[in-house]
Amino acid sequence: SDSRREGWREIVNRKLRFPSELLDAIQEGDLSRVQQLLQGSDGILQQQADSEDRAWREALNLAIRVGGGEITGTLLRYVKFDFRQIHEALLVAVDTNQPQVVKLLLDRLDQEKSIKMDIKSFSLAFFDRSIDNARFAPGVTPLTLACEKDLYEIVDMLVQKGHAIPRPHKISCTCLECSNGRKYDLLKFSLFRINTYKGIASRAYLSITSEDAMLTAFKLCRELQRLSCKEPEFKPEYLSLELLSQEFAFELLGMCRNQSEVTAVLNDLGDSEEEEEELDSQAFEEGIPNLARLRLAVNYNQKKFVAHPICQQVLSSIWCGNLSGWRGSNTLWKFFVSCSIFLTMPLLCLVYWIAPKSWVGKMLKIPVIKFLLHSASYLWFLIFLLVESLFLEHKHHIFLGRNQTVWENSLHMVWVAGFFWYECKEVWIEGLHSYLLDLWNCLDIVILSLYLASFALRVLVAGRGHLHCLDAPSSPECYYFTRAGRHEWQPEDPQFVAEVLFAVTSMLSFTRLAYILPAHESLGTLQISIGKMIDDMIRFMFILMIILTAFLCGLNNTYVYYQESQRLGNFNETFQFLFWTMFGMEEYSVVDMPQYGLAEFVGRALYGIFTIVMVIVLLNMLIAMITNSFQKIEDDADVEWKFARSKLYLSYFREGLTLPVPFNVIPTPKSLFYSVRGIVRFVCCSKPKRQQDYPPIPTIDVGLGGKSCRSYRLQVIKALVQRYIDTARREFEESRRKDLGNRITELNKSVSRLHAEVKRLHHSLPAHPAPASPLDGASVLHRYILRVQDNVQNFSQAAGSSGPGSPAQVMVHQDGARLFDPRAAWVMVEREGEQGPEDLFEVCLSRGPAQWHRTSTRHCHAGDPASGPGSECCRVLGEGVDSSSRAQLHVMLEWDRQAAQ
Ligand SMILES: [Zn+2]
Repeated sequence: SDSRREGWREIVNRKLRFPSELLDAIQEGDLSRVQQLLQGSDGILQQQADSEDRAWREALNLAIRVGGGEITGTLLRYVKFDFRQIHEALLVAVDTNQPQVVKLLLDRLDQEKSIKMDIKSFSLAFFDRSIDNARFAPGVTPLTLACEKDLYEIVDMLVQKGHAIPRPHKISCTCLECSNGRKYDLLKFSLFRINTYKGIASRAYLSITSEDAMLTAFKLCRELQRLSCKEPEFKPEYLSLELLSQEFAFELLGMCRNQSEVTAVLNDLGDSEEEEEELDSQAFEEGIPNLARLRLAVNYNQKKFVAHPICQQVLSSIWCGNLSGWRGSNTLWKFFVSCSIFLTMPLLCLVYWIAPKSWVGKMLKIPVIKFLLHSASYLWFLIFLLVESLFLEHKHHIFLGRNQTVWENSLHMVWVAGFFWYECKEVWIEGLHSYLLDLWNCLDIVILSLYLASFALRVLVAGRGHLHCLDAPSSPECYYFTRAGRHEWQPEDPQFVAEVLFAVTSMLSFTRLAYILPAHESLGTLQISIGKMIDDMIRFMFILMIILTAFLCGLNNTYVYYQESQRLGNFNETFQFLFWTMFGMEEYSVVDMPQYGLAEFVGRALYGIFTIVMVIVLLNMLIAMITNSFQKIEDDADVEWKFARSKLYLSYFREGLTLPVPFNVIPTPKSLFYSVRGIVRFVCCSKPKRQQDYPPIPTIDVGLGGKSCRSYRLQVIKALVQRYIDTARREFEESRRKDLGNRITELNKSVSRLHAEVKRLHHSLPAHPAPASPLDGASVLHRYILRVQDNVQNFSQAAGSSGPGSPAQVMVHQDGARLFDPRAAWVMVEREGEQGPEDLFEVCLSRGPAQWHRTSTRHCHAGDPASGPGSECCRVLGEGVDSSSRAQLHVMLEWDRQAAQ
C-alpha cells in the first residue's frame, strides 16, 4: 500500500507541479518546448497554493506580454485556468493592447459557461488578493482599463460580450455591497470608485456604450462636479475627468459636417420626459429653432461647448435673423441704428401694436432689434429716474410736507408696472424653477418689490389721510396725514420709509444695465471679472469682520471706563474710528490718554497692531486675490465672454415679450384676439386641436412625426461618434507610425528573421562544405541590411518633420518590449556629419539584466533593474535628429552563437 500511496502522491504532484522551465521557454518563444512541458500535466484545476497560483498566472501573463499568440493559445489549451487567473490575463492583454489575445481569452471564458461565471464576477475581482498589485490599480476590470486607455476595439469587444461598468453607489451608501467593500479594505474601496469613474468618463466608453454620447457627457460632467465637492480627497481627479468629458462633447460637436446635422444635434434634447415637458412649455418664435441642447449646455455650464465655433455661428445667425448685413457692418452704422431706435422707440412700438405682422413688426421681432429696443426702453427708464430726481431738487418745497399727490412723484411706476408684467410673463413662459436659476431675475424681484413697497407706503399715507378726514375733518389724525410738517412726523412715518426705499431702489436700478454689457466684448469681459472680484470680496469680508470685531471688542474694553473724557468707549464710536482708520482718515491722537499710562499704552498698542494687520496684511491680500481672479478670467476671456453672450442671446430667442416695457401693459389687438378665441373655444367645448408648441425644425422632414425626428437625431449622434472613433484611430495609427519605439520593433522583427535564416544556413553548412556558402550568407545579410535600411531611412524623414534639431528621447517600457526578440542584438545608427560620420544613436536589446550582452554602446542601458526576470526594457536615446541630416545606416548584428547552436 506504501508504494500505491507513493504512486498516488506522484500523480498529484505531477498534476500540480509547475514546470520551472516553462517561464524560460515562454520567454524564448519556444513553442515546441512549451508544448512538451505542458503535455505532462493534464489540466490543472484544483485550488492551488498561493505560490503555485502566482507562477501559473505569471506564465500566462508572460506569454501574453512576449506577444506569442500561439504560446498563449497552447497554454490555454493544455491548462485549465480559473476565472481569476483569466481575469488577470485579460488585464494584461488589455494593458498591452492585443485585441486578438483578448478575443482568445473571452472565447475561452465562453467555453467555460459551465463554471457558472457571469459578467458580474468581474467587479467581484475587487476581492482578489493575489492579483498583480504592482501593475494594476485596485478595482480595475478589463473594461475599465480598456476604457481608460481608449482602446476602442477592445472596448467594443468587451461590451458586445455583455461587460458593463456599473455606476458606483453614492458616497454615503450604506447597502451591503458598499459596507462590505469598506470593511474589506477602505483604501481599495475608494480607489475602486475613482478608477470606475475613470472608465465611465473615458471617451471610448462614452462613445461606444451610450445612445446619446453628448447628452451622457453633459450629465456626467454635472455628476463629476458634484462628486468633486462631495469627495474633496479626489477633487483634482474628478475635475480632470470632468474636463475630459467636457472636451469630448466639444470634439464630438466638431465632427459635424453640415448644417442639418448641427440643427439636429442642437435642437433636439430627446431626453427623459420631464425635461421634454419643461421644454414644451417654452414656446418659440416662428423660424427660431428651440436650441434645446444648447440651452441645456448653458444650464449645465458647459462653457467650452457653448463657445464652440459651431454653436456661436448658429447663435449669431439667429441673432441677426434676416438682417444678414448687420454682422459685417461697421461700428458707426451700428451706433447710428441704435441711436435711431432709441429715439424712435415709441413710434416703432405704436406700429408694432397696430400691425404686428407688418414689415416693421417683423423687423422688431429679429432678436438683435428686439434687444436694442428693450435696451432703449431701459435707458429711457433710467433717464426718467434722473429727471425725476432733478425735478425733486428744483421743486423741493412741494415735497417737504404731505401736500403732493401720490402721482406727482410716482410717474416711474408706469415703467415698474411694465416690468412687473414682463417678469410675470417670463415666469409663465420659462417656469418658476428655471426663472429663479438666473440670479439676475432674483435681483429683478428685489428691485420690483422695493418699488412696489415704496409705492404702497405712499398710497397708505394718502389713503389714511383721506379716510380720517372723511370721518372727522378736524381730528388730529386728519391733520397728521394731510397737513403736518416734516418736523412733526414720527420717526417711523411711512413716508420716511417710502422715500428711503425709493432712494435705494433707484440706485439698484442701474445695476440692471449689467445685463446689456455682455453684448460688447471688452465691457462683457470686464463685467465678468468684476463679478468674480465681488465673489472674492464677500469671502474676504468674512475674515475682515472677524478681525474688526476682535479689535472693536479689545479697544472698547480698554476705554469703556473713561467714557466721560474719551471719544472711544462706546461701540458706535469705536466702530467708526476703526472703520475710517482702515482708509487712513482718522487722527491717531484719539487713543491718547496721558493721565492713565497703562491703559493708554495698551490702547496705543492695539491700535498699532490693528493698523498693521488691516492696512498692510489684509488690504494687500485683497488686492492679490483680486489680481489673481482677474488674471484667471483674462486667461480664458474669450470663452467666458462668449458664454455670457450666448446666455444673453438665448434670452432674446423667445416667443412674445416683443414690446418693450412701458408699452407691454397695454393689451395688443393680437392678444385680445387670442384671448377671445380662447374663451370662445372654451365655451363651445370644442376640443381645440393640440397644436405644436413650437414649429418643427425646418431642416428635418416636416412630414414625419416626432418619432422619426428623434431617430434622425440619434442617427446623427451615432454618425458623429463613428467619425470621432475613426479620427481617434487614425491619430493613433499616425502616432504609432511616427513612434521611434515602434520603428525599432519593426526593425527588430527583421533582425530576428535574419537570425532565423542565418541559423538555418548554419545548420546546412556541414552539408555544403563548398566555398559557395559564405557567399550565400553574405547575400542573405545584404538583403536584410537593405530592408532595415529602408525602414530606418523612412524613420529619419518622419522624425525630421517633427522639428529641426529637436533632441528625440524615447523610452520604451514594457508596453513596447513585448514584441522584442528575446535574443540580444544591437543596432547602431550613424549620421553623416560635416566631419565624417558621427554617432546618432545606439540601440540595445536585451533579455534581462542577467543575460545582458555587453557591447560598445554609449547611450544604452540594461533593463530596468527593478523589474523581475522576464520583463524587458529597452532604452533608446537619440541625439540631434534633424530634418537636414541625411541618415546613413549601419546595421551590425551580434548574436549569441552558443544559443544558436
Ligand atoms: Zn451601495
